[in-house]
Amino acid sequence: MRASATMSEPATMIRPDAAVEMVVRAAEPRPARSVPLADAVGLRLAETVTADDDAPPFPRAMMDGYAVRRVDAGRAVRVVGRVPAGHFIDTRVEGGTCLEIMTGAACPPETEAVVPVERTRREDEAVVLPAAIEAAENIAAVGSDCRSGQTILAAGAAITPLAVAAMASFGRTAVRVVPRPTLGIITTGTEVVALDAQPAPGQIRDANGPMLLALATALGLDRPRHFRAGDRVATILAALERVADRDIILLAGGVSVGRYDLVPEALRQYGAETLFHKVRQKPGKPLLAARRGRQLLFGLPGNPLACHLGFQRYVAAAVRAMQAADPTPEGADGMLSSAVATKGGRTHFVLASAEQGERPGAWRVHPMPGASSADVFGTAGANCYLEVPPGREPLPAGSQVAFTWLIGRS
Ligand code: AMP
Ligand code: MG
Repeated sequence: MRASATMSEPATMIRPDAAVEMVVRAAEPRPARSVPLADAVGLRLAETVTADDDAPPFPRAMMDGYAVRRVDAGRAVRVVGRVPAGHFIDTRVEGGTCLEIMTGAACPPETEAVVPVERTRREDEAVVLPAAIEAAENIAAVGSDCRSGQTILAAGAAITPLAVAAMASFGRTAVRVVPRPTLGIITTGTEVVALDAQPAPGQIRDANGPMLLALATALGLDRPRHFRAGDRVATILAALERVADRDIILLAGGVSVGRYDLVPEALRQYGAETLFHKVRQKPGKPLLAARRGRQLLFGLPGNPLACHLGFQRYVAAAVRAMQAADPTPEGADGMLSSAVATKGGRTHFVLASAEQGERPGAWRVHPMPGASSADVFGTAGANCYLEVPPGREPLPAGSQVAFTWLIGRS
């Protein structure tokens, strides 16, 4: 760490990893709720799911062919019936006879094997069977995939599409899950107007509101309620009351030390307890996290890139922790295509675009520093970010770096 840079920063600022840890510790998993099976994918199970039947529930043919007795190997046998999937045919398979059977059909009584059609030769009403037939060949026995009473998914397991298939097999129409948190968004700033308004002199359009809504959508959250609140404690408080039922509230802008940065005061009057205010990072130093009961609140800096990073690094971790999921974001390693500067005593977050190198998995990482903390134009194509710790020499082109994928990349 460079001594001069370190000394210029107040001692109360915390490091990004410590800030994430505090957020995750404060984020309590939401109470379990029953949801339709179709809505459960991507969530965590809040119950242990057991099989209430054997799977398969009947001896199942695994090939299209003939249900036969093994003594008839090498012989021509009479075809005495047909078993399509979805039917139960109680014609017994006796020596010298067989039934035509389809994949997925229940084997008729006394079937000893299913011989695939490709290994037979049909002669009118008879079929010539191969010389060797294995016992139980091409038959999935009752319970051979899963026994009744067996645990198929433990509480806490991720509900993948395959887990949905497993639960659907046992007729689960609803399942208890840890639901996704609900979000409220408040954008502050007297200068900020709705995106469909024509800004008057001195005004700008609200970029953070739509961006935070997009991030929420990308995380699969229900559409958050969003209000603009200007720069008065009373209007910010009124907006807070309108989203007071939400699990997480994001306030964009007004969190720094300017005369009209009134989010910290509004949060104090709202009754929130500050977890931290200011993180040793660039961009987004004024970041604030607070809680009121189980509710988490974030004061995100108004500059869109700082606001964006605040969501990517901290809010997303809280969302995942509230879903009882691993809060660690996904990333990979790659090679820098151009140099990255360090920022003295602060962790430097740099947006970048990672693209596949010549070898699969060999990412090439193109830094996109942006012209300013408001430059969402030169950075709109970023799909990842780098986290460059303080006190490092600038990273030259060709360095191996770890990067984190952005939420919402495609
Ligand atoms: P603040 O954090 O309120 O000091 O705002 C920092 C900078 O971000 C200022 O230039 C603001 O005008 C700008 N800003 C604040 N909120 C928004 C917003 N919702 N969309 C775009 N820019 C914003
Ligand atoms: Mg402001």
